[in-house]
Amino acid sequence: MFGMEPPVITRRRTRAVDVGGVVIGGDAPVRIQSMTNTLTRDTDATLTQVRALVVAGAELVRVAVPTKADTKALTEIVAASPVPIIADVHFHFARALEAITAGVAKIRLNPGNISDRDQVRRVIDAAGAAGVAIRVGVNEGSVVQRHTGPQRQADLARPLHELMADKLAEYLEVFTEAGFDSLILSAKSHDAVTTVAANRLLAGRWDWPLHLGVTHAGTAQTGAIRSAAALGALLCEGIGQTIRISYTGDPVAEVLAARELLASLRLRVRKGIDLVACPTCGRLEMDLAPIVERVRVALADVSESITVAIMGCVVNGPGEAESADVAICAGRDKAVLYRRGQKVRTVPAGRIVEAVVAEVKKLADKEPGRQSDQAQVN
Ligand code: SF4
Repeated sequence: MFGMEPPVITRRRTRAVDVGGVVIGGDAPVRIQSMTNTLTRDTDATLTQVRALVVAGAELVRVAVPTKADTKALTEIVAASPVPIIADVHFHFARALEAITAGVAKIRLNPGNISDRDQVRRVIDAAGAAGVAIRVGVNEGSVVQRHTGPQRQADLARPLHELMADKLAEYLEVFTEAGFDSLILSAKSHDAVTTVAANRLLAGRWDWPLHLGVTHAGTAQTGAIRSAAALGALLCEGIGQTIRISYTGDPVAEVLAARELLASLRLRVRKGIDLVACPTCGRLEMDLAPIVERVRVALADVSESITVAIMGCVVNGPGEAESADVAICAGRDKAVLYRRGQKVRTVPAGRIVEAVVAEVKKLADKEPGRQSDQAQVN
C-alpha cells in the first residue's frame, strides 16, 4: 500500500444553514440531495421513493408541488420521511405558503417565475417565522426576458453566467431587505462550462452555501458525465456545499452517482465497494466484463469500505492486487485470488465471482462498519 496523499481540496467557507437538522455549509460535509419523480400527491409512492433515496445515500429529498393536492400530501410525507423534505415551488407562491404550513424544512424558489416582490415577501415572512430555509435558484431557461423588446435584446447580448448571477443579485434584494438569512443559492445550466462559470461568480459574491447541479443534463450516459465535469471542477475549487446530480431516469442512480463523485474526490467517506477493474485490452484472455458486472451486483449491499480489483493479466494485475483488499488477476482459464497483496489461491474461471464475493464478505464480517481512511471532509 502507498502512503496517504495530502488533502488537495481546500473547501471555501460559507455560512451554515440548518435545514431541518441537516446543516448545509459551515463545517458540514458536502451534502447529497435528490428529487423524487413520483406524483407528490401519491403519498405512498412518494414515501417509498424517498426511503429508497435515503438508503442510497440522500440526506435531503426534494419533491415537486405543482398543485394544492401535492402540498396537502406533504404533512404526511414530512412526518414519515427519515430526512428533511424540500418543496420545489414554481409559479405559485401559494404552494410555498402551503408547504411551509405542512412542515417542510426548505423551499426552493425560482426567481424567474415568481417575481412579484409582495408574494416573495409573504413567503419569506412565513419561512422566517417557521424556521424554514429557502434556496433561491436561477436556471438558464428563466433568466432571459421572454417578451421581445429591448430588455430581451440586452439580456441575450450578455454572457449567460453573468446574467444568471446578476438576476440572482436582483432577486436577493427582497431577502436582504427582509433580513432573511437562511439562504442557499444555486445557478444551473444544462451546459457544464456555464454552470462552472456561474457558480464561480456566485462563490465570489456571496458567502451563503451553494447548491450545485447541472439542469436538464440528459440521459444517464451524458447526464452523469456532464454533471461530474461541472460539479467535479467546482468541488475541486472548494465550491459547493450540497449537490444534486440529475438526469433522466431513476433518481436512486443519481444519488449513487453523487456518492461516487464525492468519494472519488475524498469529500465524503466511501461506503461500500470501491471496484477497480481492468479496462480490457488485447492481452485479455478471458471475458472479464460479465464477471466484473456480476461482482458489482453481488456486492451492492456491502456497506463496508472495501477495495476490490478485477484485473485481466499480469501487466497491472499484481500491482493493483497489492493496493486492493481483495483482487483477482485473471489468466486464460483461471485466476489468482489475492487478499491484501497476498496470494490466497488459484481459482478456475467459472468460480471467480463466487470466490471474490466470499472473500469480500469474510472481510466485511471480520471488520464490520469498516470505513475508508481516505476521506478529506473539510
Ligand atoms: S489489466 Fe491487463 S488485460 Fe486488463 S487492460 Fe490492463 S494490460 Fe490489458
